[in-house]
Amino acid sequence: QYLEIRLADTDSSYLLPPFLKSRARTRIVCTIGPATGTLSRIKRLIRAGMSVGRLNLSHGNSEHHNHYVQILRQAAEEMGVAVGILADLPGPKYRVGEMAQPEITLSTGQHFILQRTPCDGTSERANVWPLGLHSDIKKGAPVLIDEGSIELRVEEIDEEEIHCRVTMGGVMKPNKAVTAPGNTTTVDYFTPETEDALSWVISSDIDYVGLSYVRDGGDVERVRKHLSDGGVTPQLVAKIEIQQAVDNLSDILEKSDAVMVARGDLGVELPFERVPSVQKQIIRMANEIGKPVITATQMMESMIESPSPTRAEVTDVYNAVRDGTDAIMLSAETSVGKHPFRAVQAMTKISKRAERYLEYPKLAGRRRTAASKGGLAVDDAIADGAAVAAASLNAKAIVAFTASGSTAGRVAAYRPVTPLLALTPDIGAGAKLALRWGVIPVVVEEHSDIQDMFAAASDLALQTKIAKEGDVIVAVVGLPIGVPGTTNLLRVITLPEPVSHKG
Ligand code: PGA
Ligand code: MN
Repeated sequence: QYLEIRLADTDSSYLLPPFLKSRARTRIVCTIGPATGTLSRIKRLIRAGMSVGRLNLSHGNSEHHNHYVQILRQAAEEMGVAVGILADLPGPKYRVGEMAQPEITLSTGQHFILQRTPCDGTSERANVWPLGLHSDIKKGAPVLIDEGSIELRVEEIDEEEIHCRVTMGGVMKPNKAVTAPGNTTTVDYFTPETEDALSWVISSDIDYVGLSYVRDGGDVERVRKHLSDGGVTPQLVAKIEIQQAVDNLSDILEKSDAVMVARGDLGVELPFERVPSVQKQIIRMANEIGKPVITATQMMESMIESPSPTRAEVTDVYNAVRDGTDAIMLSAETSVGKHPFRAVQAMTKISKRAERYLEYPKLAGRRRTAASKGGLAVDDAIADGAAVAAASLNAKAIVAFTASGSTAGRVAAYRPVTPLLALTPDIGAGAKLALRWGVIPVVVEEHSDIQDMFAAASDLALQTKIAKEGDVIVAVVGLPIGVPGTTNLLRVITLPEPVSHKG
């Protein structure tokens, strides 16, 4: 099943999983949970197209999370595939506290109190945590419980209690979200739950940290500092899910490594009819700055129960790909759903279809125009040049040699129509590329000689049958070898490239 790639003139070879070639270029992020939390299920997700496994630190305990990290790493290692791990911090999200009963009914028109002091919730009152809503909210404001299952209106606020009128009744459950739409939150980003999650991240092996409820670039910078003080440097994914984050989008994009269109909370915090245009705006701005963007939530929602998606869901995934998203995400579909593998397979099929009609020149143009402002940097000129040269020469592949992942990531930002292989000696660098549109990470031996690199690219292209003799491939390298952030060499190779003869 695996393809053995032999390196000419050496005894070494490595195995390449063939399914990497047939993957969609759009990346798929899967939330791991009880439905998928075993080694064999993780492997099935990877085979179906998952490139990033996501842990939601608001749910489950550290024992579960440790187990998921361990099986994700083991599956990636055993399959020879780079898989990224994303862990989402709780962030300053308000929630109702514990309840005296698992379900409590609130009736339209009744009085209801949200209080600062912890208590077991009843039909008269419930606790809201973390502290802060009292000082943020104003009289007359709407408050939603559990994404709008219940609607309240604020009548009176005192030191301890927010007195509300229930404007739409419903069933309240413990720990569900409390949303004050459009409200500016002033609560410290580092809530006790977020601090605990950060400590767990520091003691774990995580590639990406999802920042829930970020408000501005300052929140991102503080999390980055806290983590680096703790000795870890994961990439930071800012989740855009409140109005404040939309207002501060360019600042947040500047300070983060990637962003997420977090449509679940965004559709409650903003009027839902604004979500599609905000999605397009976030994707466009992320494309311009050349950072990965994930489109998330309810993409295949009906597949939690049903074996096939609704036509609306199919169209949603298709349109997100056409918008220019790097990655698409599954939440409950893969964490607790009945058809997790079918959901990933569906995403793969829809993405591949959408990619046929992708407006490659338009997407490359977004990045080029933005990168050219103030003069194009050398690495961007090479990355753009590689994509353009490969397309006009009808090259069969772009092969980027990348120690840190930055070279391949830079090429991906120009949305090359040509298949893009990232050759890295470091599976960790491969995992850091796992959110990047169109990158096929291949873990290879370390090369110290430039001619060996070209020969390895040639071997890989021929043996995977991505190309045949006489075809052209484009190689992108940073010299000197091993120094990150120097993408400065573009080479066109007509296959086969002769092997080097070291003296
Ligand atoms: P969540 O974030 O699933 O952690 O809430 C995504 C979203 O809000 O869409
Ligand atoms: Mn959210």
